Amino acid sequence: MPLEKVYSVARKKIIIEKTRTMSAFQFKNLLRPNIRTLTPYSSARNEYSGSPAIYLDANENAIGAAAGSLFQRYPDPLQQELKKQIARMKNVAPQQIFLGNGSDEAIDLLIRAVCTPATDNILIFPPTYGMYEVAARINDIAVKKLLLNADFQLDRDTVKASMDQHTRIVFFCSPNNPTGNLIHEETITAVLEDFSGLVVVDEAYIDFSSARSWTQQLSRYPNLVILQTFSKAWGMAGLRLGMAIAAPEIINVLNQIKAPYNISAATQQLATAALKNSNEVEKWIALLGAERTRLAERLTIFPFVKTVFPSEANFLLIRVEDAKGLYHYLLEQGIVVRDRSNQPLCKGCLRVTVGTPEENEYLIRTLTSYKP
Ligand code: PMP
Repeated sequence: MPLEKVYSVARKKIIIEKTRTMSAFQFKNLLRPNIRTLTPYSSARNEYSGSPAIYLDANENAIGAAAGSLFQRYPDPLQQELKKQIARMKNVAPQQIFLGNGSDEAIDLLIRAVCTPATDNILIFPPTYGMYEVAARINDIAVKKLLLNADFQLDRDTVKASMDQHTRIVFFCSPNNPTGNLIHEETITAVLEDFSGLVVVDEAYIDFSSARSWTQQLSRYPNLVILQTFSKAWGMAGLRLGMAIAAPEIINVLNQIKAPYNISAATQQLATAALKNSNEVEKWIALLGAERTRLAERLTIFPFVKTVFPSEANFLLIRVEDAKGLYHYLLEQGIVVRDRSNQPLCKGCLRVTVGTPEENEYLIRTLTSYKP
């Protein structure tokens, strides 16, 4: 066969195979049977969302302590105003956004939507964020684990070999907590193209990284779910607001199984106001990035610091001579860091959040007086 023809046949084969694997993803088929047939709760605000003169439909107390304030009434169960603004910022449609009480809520709901207890499993890549495993175990879902390699990366064939027919969700954390690195795009792409379950990319720390968000790949991958949060770059961890961004049919199911009013009126109001400040956020991100570089350089100088791992997040993972000893020394000096030394691949490691310039300076000064 002429070479050109061979190439053309090969290309056609690749295209057909891609189409075949991608079309194998049917979100409806992935749903737990009880979720597929669920009649969701319909709240008063789901059934009526206009602005009548008098509300007598939701058993609120119009003469109670919050009378006349925002808190007198139940909030919008679908947070439409807030989603409109987030959608504009993220360049996605409002129907592609689920808002939760932190992204932790989205992790739990995704597992509950597609994993049947005592039957299905999820795949995670330790060392990574702990809630994927905990949320799975709370729901009686088995957890398959494939350790990251020494570069904190994955070999895509090994990832494939780590799944079975009951694997429903693969959780990538990129940038990864606690290692701080991005997972290679090719690895995630290979799983997105091959796997007919959900591929979650947790981007809690994406704003601190040099990478583009996966949100702009959503039209290509119907099985992609991206997690983001207001707890990190936006500086609002106490507010508890996180999100899942995915195809509308996935978001619809999350909306059907969440608690009816999961995002309070206070959160919706404060987050809507904060979104008007996106220029400020850019400044914080730039400052934290510069502080991360400065802190990494200063930490490297201490002889008891063996490694400062490169970071695409707002923290540094460092390997030190005596992690427990240093942890307790810092605590005595009023500084708490995270001891990660019992995590796989993290022997001797502490995770240090990048603080304000003053806090970072105090940390450096304190370390200067440390005698291992
Ligand atoms: N994902 C990762 C990777 C995290 O590190 C965290 C919090 N530390 C979360 C999700 C949870 O964030 P949230 O505050 O939105 O629940």
